[in-house]
Amino acid sequence: MSGSPIPPPDLGTADLRTADRDHVWHPYGPMPGRTDPLVVRSARGVRLTLDDGRELVDGMSSWWAAVHGYRHPALDAAVHADEFSHVMFGGLTHEPAVALATLLVEITPEPLQHVFLADSGSISIEVAVKMCLQYQRARGRPERTRMMTWRGGYHGDTFAAMSVCDPDGGMHALWKGFLPEQVFADVPPPANPTEYDEAYDAHLAQVAAEHAGELAGIVVEPVVQGAGGMRFHDPRHLAALRAIADEHDLVLVFDEIATGFGRTGELFAAHHAGVAPDVLCVGKALTGGYLSMAAALCTPEVAAAVSDERGGGGLAHGPTFMGNPLAARVALASVRELLRRDWRGEVAAIHETLTTGLAPARELPGVRDVRTLGAIGVVQLDHPVDVPAAQAAAEEHGVWLRPFRDLIYTMPPFVTGPGDVARIAGAVLAAAAAG
Ligand SMILES: *Cc1c(COP(=O)(O)O)cnc(C)c1O
Repeated sequence: MSGSPIPPPDLGTADLRTADRDHVWHPYGPMPGRTDPLVVRSARGVRLTLDDGRELVDGMSSWWAAVHGYRHPALDAAVHADEFSHVMFGGLTHEPAVALATLLVEITPEPLQHVFLADSGSISIEVAVKMCLQYQRARGRPERTRMMTWRGGYHGDTFAAMSVCDPDGGMHALWKGFLPEQVFADVPPPANPTEYDEAYDAHLAQVAAEHAGELAGIVVEPVVQGAGGMRFHDPRHLAALRAIADEHDLVLVFDEIATGFGRTGELFAAHHAGVAPDVLCVGKALTGGYLSMAAALCTPEVAAAVSDERGGGGLAHGPTFMGNPLAARVALASVRELLRRDWRGEVAAIHETLTTGLAPARELPGVRDVRTLGAIGVVQLDHPVDVPAAQAAAEEHGVWLRPFRDLIYTMPPFVTGPGDVARIAGAVLAAAAAG
């Protein structure tokens, strides 16, 4: 641990709110913001402590990231590195980055052997798209520059990432003329245990065949579409995509930034399908929510093409903070902690409590669907959520939720105990009733 204690913030709560309103952008918001954010003073375990002394159980894992909760001793220790803070990655290397890359190769599907460390999920998607384009150039097909995906996806907020987000949810109209126009298949049908939608696979095959001459790759979120609508689809559609990608020599990219590291009940969602992609993006829970880091992993075939003179002679990317040792150390600690724990049992227990706890939502007026998968619980309304009312109801239950569009959802930290998971489920019900 470092020597001197961190001095307390010298802004009083009122000043902090005013300064926040005057100067600070928040995600997806106008300036100044329309609502006042809650002020968090500290976070420990699964609880956020607010400036007014209230404690809220975190139902969001800080956007899928904080799987071990907050102030975990092993992760705390990892970010207090004595060796170095950051060093550039061009021409230099170090153990934290190498150990992390090696561990990622070990735990992801077998064909993925090479790791590009990126500074955020969106950037890992940019890198994945570059891999697709450079792959096709190396194959002598530079005209293949478009990506295929399905509607309803979310892949981040940088431009290539936005271009493969759902066109409506991703507000493509706002960027028309600037955003690359990609090839979209229909939204995948909801998973249905009693019936498999083969017609949808035929649709995917048809879209790919129609555009094969201009496609570089396919990018999708496997099994769970997250911020694009919290939808779950049958893993067998991923096997169909694998076959389609092979048929047309397309690079298949799985975006596991939200689903990676156990969230869906398998370590990676690709495991549900028994399918390996050519490129895999991970982020969010990679560092247990401590620091921003992501990675794009690829196969030797992709790496060889990218490295080929015709493919560009190397990967055309290299962020300043690439391979940041502190982020790499905490990522290593987080993944090791996950593997050491019975994460499968923890996720299964959360799944069970969410499934029973959310079931009564089906009886609520205005509720269209209730679904759970792994440590994810979703209540979908038949109208947009009244977010302030829903959040107030959740806070009454001592829980932090952040509904969007028609969705009230939770993905708690894996370390959340049964009582707190039940409390979160109660808060989701209350939010659904109020919202
Ligand atoms: C959050 C997310 C991203 C973007 O990651 P950032 O770190 O926010 O840039 C990309 N894809 C998926 C599936 C995500 O959930």
